[in-house]
Amino acid sequence: MSDTVKYVLDESRIPRAWYNIMADLPSPPPPVLHPGTLQPIGPDDLAPLFPMSLIAQEVATEREIGIPDPVRDVYRQWRPSPLYRARRLERALDTPARIYYKYEGVSPAGSHKPNTAVAQAFYNKEEGVKRITTETGAGQWGSSLAFAGTLFGIEIEVYMVRVSYDQKPYRRAMMEAWGARCTPSPSPETAAGRAILAARPDHPGSLGIAISEAVEMAVQRDDTKYALGSVLNHVLLHQTIIGIEAMEQLALAGDYPDIVVGCTGGGSNFAGIAFPFIGANLREGKTTRIVAVEPAACPSLTRGRYAYDFGDTAHLTPLTKMHTLGSVFTPPGFHAGGLRYHGMAPLVSHVKELGLIEARAYQQIGCFEAGLEFARAEGILPAPEANHAVKGAIDEALACKRDGVSRAILFNLCGHGHFDMQAYVDFKAGKLVDQDYDEAELAMALAGLPSAGA
Ligand SMILES: *Cc1c(COP(=O)(O)O)cnc(C)c1O
Repeated sequence: MSDTVKYVLDESRIPRAWYNIMADLPSPPPPVLHPGTLQPIGPDDLAPLFPMSLIAQEVATEREIGIPDPVRDVYRQWRPSPLYRARRLERALDTPARIYYKYEGVSPAGSHKPNTAVAQAFYNKEEGVKRITTETGAGQWGSSLAFAGTLFGIEIEVYMVRVSYDQKPYRRAMMEAWGARCTPSPSPETAAGRAILAARPDHPGSLGIAISEAVEMAVQRDDTKYALGSVLNHVLLHQTIIGIEAMEQLALAGDYPDIVVGCTGGGSNFAGIAFPFIGANLREGKTTRIVAVEPAACPSLTRGRYAYDFGDTAHLTPLTKMHTLGSVFTPPGFHAGGLRYHGMAPLVSHVKELGLIEARAYQQIGCFEAGLEFARAEGILPAPEANHAVKGAIDEALACKRDGVSRAILFNLCGHGHFDMQAYVDFKAGKLVDQDYDEAELAMALAGLPSAGA
């Protein structure tokens, strides 16, 4: 058999519906609470921030939610994304495992994020929104929304976590190339930003702070809404196109995964590849193991508390029950910027509590080693975030070798690393260190959790 094994679907096979896991869960996730009344929020509470169609998706319970034709039309530019069998990597590892990866780096922004950015821009446009504010960590989300904004004629304003703004000037240049405005966060433009800067002028920023700034700016103008690139139910929903396609591509290969692996920041690319397979486990009695991999320096799923918390640092958002490190927790400035969020998507947290997924945490140096091993075998240089999934898949493949069994492993290669070359330069120069989060800071951040409904 040839070494390059690629499963390609014709564009007519782009899914016509996203998969909504709510339809198959044995119990629904806990409700989202209003921070003042501690009562479940309703659609009106979210209306200043999101268009009604996305709010409806947030609480939808039907299994399939149709993908609008204009969104499918944009998807045609790069979807269905390819699924590869990693034969060269299998040989390099000398493993009997069958390793497959779904490659989301083929999108214009280089990651899975346009899957939801395009859908969100479409629904906002439909409801007459002129401007969208958002936050970005490593810049992947900001650039994806900038791309979608230019396609649909919507102004995009991005608050970018300061440490990434300084580390990744090319992501900012990309956002600006697509016509977006990019401001380092914390910024003096918002009350939330000014308060943080007053306490610590050199604050490196965090996703929680950048969210506060973007939300604050969105609620001030009627023609402006806010968009989030991960965490929320509708974002995870849009990403399920990844797993739906992968399932069909694996059928072409005559295979089905024993293990599915994804990296988790806010949980969207992981949910995207995993939820359709969790649905098959629940509905059809399949027994695929689902593995979430997170950074040891920001370990919400493995070390966080499952509790109600705010999504942002200034406490402007509703309360959601999730695995959290505390909304004021600032993780160290490690290189997988897209994984530096204090909380986990409520739906991913819920399936973890239900025992439907496993979670593990890895330090960054081992992840970069795995990413380079993958690049040398398969040719694609993964994003630092994706390296966590690569390492998860490699570890499972090595377990197959140890156990002398062939299992099918599917992982999500959620983005390429072409804008993260400084991270690889630093790795090669021996400048990367494995950092643990600050235990004292975590204890303090957890002590400050709101006391809602435990
Ligand atoms: C944003 C991002 C992540 C983390 O976000 P999730 O919502 O957990 O997917 C991971 N990988 C890449 C390439 C990203 O751009």
